[in-house]
Amino acid sequence: MKTSSFLKEAADSVADLVSPRNCIACGRDLYSVEDELCIPCLCDFPLTRYERISRNPMADKLNSFVKKGPYLYATALFFHLNGYSSITPAIKYRRNFAAGRYFSSMLGEKILESEYLRDVDCIVPVPLHPFRKFKRGYNQAEIIAREVGKMLPQAEVRCDLLRKRKSSSSQVKLNREQRYLNIKDAFAATAKCRDAHYSHILLVDDVFTTGSTLAACCNALKKALPNGSARISVATLSFDEQM
Ligand SMILES: [Zn+2]
Repeated sequence: MKTSSFLKEAADSVADLVSPRNCIACGRDLYSVEDELCIPCLCDFPLTRYERISRNPMADKLNSFVKKGPYLYATALFFHLNGYSSITPAIKYRRNFAAGRYFSSMLGEKILESEYLRDVDCIVPVPLHPFRKFKRGYNQAEIIAREVGKMLPQAEVRCDLLRKRKSSSSQVKLNREQRYLNIKDAFAATAKCRDAHYSHILLVDDVFTTGSTLAACCNALKKALPNGSARISVATLSFDEQM
């Protein structure tokens, strides 16, 4: 072992003693060699592997809300279940940016391996309403987009193509169709879309539940892009199959 990596490992071990890190899924203390998930939770990590399956249950849900056009591809890194369902709330509400970067770079690797997603040349995070972003201080989808973008050097991250024009009410008590009706006009493409000549745009968010939010974003982009020429796909960290 090189002296520098030995020193780093020693320093990490001391840091873990002073301020223990915990597995984000089960809460157990992490060893210095573990990142975000303990080894048993990493072994059981419920990957969707949808990046290998062009027609999958997540993409079917998305396409059910999308207006005419080719079938859109969609993938998520993992299923939103058991302890793993605490990953996205930790990023969204508890400022766990280290977890955000860790899981987003895993998602980026999967996209790079995917024969139908690796040619993405633009990444667009789902926008927050400006008031919500001001209150929270950040948009978790932007963190994911930037990290995925590091894995796809040919892709440009664009936070200026889409905006959220109205703050939507809570979606929690609504069914699938009600959620889409509640959010379908909440997003609009900006004037910058007119000059956006990309061939494959990847829309990115933290969680995919009914697909209503991402479909509303797809429809807003499709309407505004020149000749509707770009293919649009979707990627999220987690996929919640419940609805
Ligand atoms: Zn664990």
